[in-house]
Amino acid sequence: MDLKEKVYWAFLKLLCAFGRQNWWPRIWNIASVEDEVILGAVLTQNVSWKNVERVLENLKQMGIRSLEDLLKFEDEVLEELLKPTAFVKRKIKTLRGIFGVLRSGNLSREELLKVYGVGEETADVIMLYAYNFPTFVIDEYTIRWFVRFFGFLPKKGEIREILHFEDLFYLKEMHALIDELGKRFCKKEPLCENCPLRFKCSFARK
Ligand code: SF4
Repeated sequence: MDLKEKVYWAFLKLLCAFGRQNWWPRIWNIASVEDEVILGAVLTQNVSWKNVERVLENLKQMGIRSLEDLLKFEDEVLEELLKPTAFVKRKIKTLRGIFGVLRSGNLSREELLKVYGVGEETADVIMLYAYNFPTFVIDEYTIRWFVRFFGFLPKKGEIREILHFEDLFYLKEMHALIDELGKRFCKKEPLCENCPLRFKCSFARK
């Protein structure tokens, strides 16, 4: 079994074990999918998703219907609204930067990466889940799982190449499934005994 076959085997195993994840989760669903993904992707940086949910619920209750409406508030008001997600000054600057890219009509992964506070993970989440651009989202869960499952630390860029398939369903689900695996089994202290990937995992087989 080559690397690509092993990735696809893992995808099918995870899909059977955990079911379809249907990301991106909607909470602020009076806004568009695009606006909700952008806001969620920025707010969740360095903070638990539970804190983001609180903010999105509040925005929904307040009847704020779009990123544009939200960003009409002065920074001082935004700081209060987004407070539960921490590092709010930085995140407001990032959101305003992304909004500037959207308004310019030049949205691309490269343009997003030029925005203050946008790294590869945030740019890829926005491009994939908001705009259906085929890219693989790599986060800490992905790297931890990859190194254990394949048994080697890839060179920069190689991990994306190995995990990528030109299929939006796969790209959206696989990232979400790896995160689910990281929360349930492939934790800092891995729980290999009941993990659905244990039979082909290099770490577990050692
Ligand atoms: S078998 Fe263990 S190390 Fe391998 S993916 Fe599962 S939890 Fe992680």
